[in-house]
Amino acid sequence: MSTTTAPLTDVRRAGAGHALVEPSDLPALKHSIAGEPTPSTATETIDVFNPSTGEKIAAVPAGTTEDVDAAVAAALSASPGWASTTPKERSLALLRIADRVEQNAEALARLESFDTGKPLSVSRDDVAQAVDTFRFMAGALRTTTSAAADEFVADHLSVIHREPLGVVGVVTPWNYPLLMAAWKIAPILGAGNTLVLKPSEITPLSTLKFAELVADLLPAGALNVVTGTGPVVGQRLSTHPDIALVALTGSVASGRAVAASAADSLKRVHLELGGKAPVVVFADADLAAAASSLRAAGYWNSGQECGAGCRVLVHASVAEEFTRLLVAEVESFAVGEPGAGDDVEIGPLVSKGHYEKVVGYLDRAREAGIGAAVGGGATGGPGWFIAPTVLVDVPVGAECAREEIFGPVVTVETFTEEDEAVRRANEVVYGLAASVWTRDAARSHDVARRLDFGTVWVNCHLVLASEVPWGGFKGSGYGRDLSVYALEDFSRTKHVMHNRTR
Ligand code: NAD
Repeated sequence: MSTTTAPLTDVRRAGAGHALVEPSDLPALKHSIAGEPTPSTATETIDVFNPSTGEKIAAVPAGTTEDVDAAVAAALSASPGWASTTPKERSLALLRIADRVEQNAEALARLESFDTGKPLSVSRDDVAQAVDTFRFMAGALRTTTSAAADEFVADHLSVIHREPLGVVGVVTPWNYPLLMAAWKIAPILGAGNTLVLKPSEITPLSTLKFAELVADLLPAGALNVVTGTGPVVGQRLSTHPDIALVALTGSVASGRAVAASAADSLKRVHLELGGKAPVVVFADADLAAAASSLRAAGYWNSGQECGAGCRVLVHASVAEEFTRLLVAEVESFAVGEPGAGDDVEIGPLVSKGHYEKVVGYLDRAREAGIGAAVGGGATGGPGWFIAPTVLVDVPVGAECAREEIFGPVVTVETFTEEDEAVRRANEVVYGLAASVWTRDAARSHDVARRLDFGTVWVNCHLVLASEVPWGGFKGSGYGRDLSVYALEDFSRTKHVMHNRTR
C-alpha cells in the first residue's frame, strides 16, 4: 500500500452568518445548585473554546471545595424525599425530562456542536440517545424488582428491598458531554438517588443548559451541577463523606485518582474508562461491509469515542484488499466546522491540548517508519482539525496500536493464525469493546467468547442500545452504564428477615 505523509484534506468552513448559537442560547454560566443558577464562592473562571476556530466562547466558574459542599448539602436534603417517591412517580419525572430534552433537541444539539466542534449529525444523535436513555430508564425502573419474598429458614420470612444509595457524585468527560451526563443522571435518579455532577471543564455548556431546562421537573436539590477542574471539584466529590458512590467516565489516569481518593471513605466507585477496540477481520469476512462499518465506527465523533474501532487486525491474505476499501471510505469524508453543512462528518478535536496529543502520536508513528495510506497529520488551521487517517503495516507492539489515540486514526496490523489474532487483540490494557468479522458462525461464537472485552460485536461495531449494558474489563474500569445493570449499580439490596414463630 502506498503511503503519504502530507494530508491533503480540505476543511469546510461555515463562513460569516452561520452562527450555530446566539449569545441568548447559552445557559447561565454558574453552577446549578438546588435548581438555581448559583455563583461560585470564588472568582476564578475556566475559559471555554470553540474547537473549530480556537476562539474563546464562554467562561465558567472554577468551582471550589465549598461549592461542592453546598451542592452535596442540597442533594442530601433532597435525598429522603426523592428516595421515598414511588417507582411510578420517578418514572413519570424521567419521561417528562425526556420530553423536555426532545422539545429542545435542536438547541441542545447546536450548543453541543458549538462547544465540542462535533458535526451536527453527531450532536443530534447524542441528543436522541439521551432522550432514549431517559425513556428506557423510566420504563426499566418500574420493572427492576428484587427476588420474591420467601422462607429460606423455617418460620423466617426474608424480604429483599432494593434501596437507593443516597447522594451520588458524577464526573463526566468532554467527548459526549450531554449523553454521558444522561447515561448517569437517568439511572441515578431512576434508582431514587440524588446527585452532584461535574461536567468536563472543557465542555460544560450542554450540561448547564440541561440542568436549566429540567429544573422545574425535579425537586430542588435532586440534580446539582458544579463546574470546575478534576483535581478540585472531582477530587472533592471523590472524598466527600456524604457521597455514597462516585461515578466517573474518563481516562484511566482520572479513574485511578478517583478510586484512590474514594478509598478513605470507602465509597463505592463506578468507572467507565478508556478503550482501544480491536477489529478482528478474518479472511472469510465481508470486507466491504467491514470497511463501510468502520467509516462510522472508527471515525464517529472524530474518533473521540471510547468504543471506536481504531485497531484493525486483518488476516494477511486479505489485508491489501481490506485496506484499499477502508482508504476509499476515509478519502470521501467531508471534514469541516459543524456550521458548514448537515453533511459534515468529521469535525475538529475538542481542545488544543488534545489536538497536540494526537499530533504527537502521529509524529512518533511517522518517526517509527509507520506510513499513512491516507491522512497522517493536522490539516491547516484555524481550529484543531486532524485529517482522517489510516496507518498501515503497523508492527506488533507499536505505540499507535497499543495506546488510546482518541482521534480520527485507525491502525492496520496483520495476522495469520486465529489464536494469534485473539492473543494480540487481548494484549492491551483496555477491555471495553471489540469486534470480530467472519462468515463462519462457529468461529464467530468462539472468538467472541475469547475476546476479553465488555462488549464484543460480530459483523458490526459501535452499535449501542439502551437495553444492553455498556462497560469494560481490565483497565477500562468497572460498573455498567445503560440497561437494568446501571439501575443495579446505583442501588443496594437490603435483607429484612421476620421471625414469624408464634
Ligand atoms: P479525563 O479523564 O481527562 O476527564 C474526565 C473527567 O474527569 C473530567 O470531568 C475531568 O475534569 C475529571 N478529572 C480529571 N482528573 C480528575 C481527578 N483527579 N479526580 C476527579 N476527576 C478528575 O477524560 P477526558 O479526556 O475528558 O475523556 C476522554 C476519556 O474518557 C477517554 O479515555 C475515553 O476513552 C473515556 N471515555 C470512556 C467512556 C466509557 O464509556 N468507557 C465514554 C466516554 C469517554
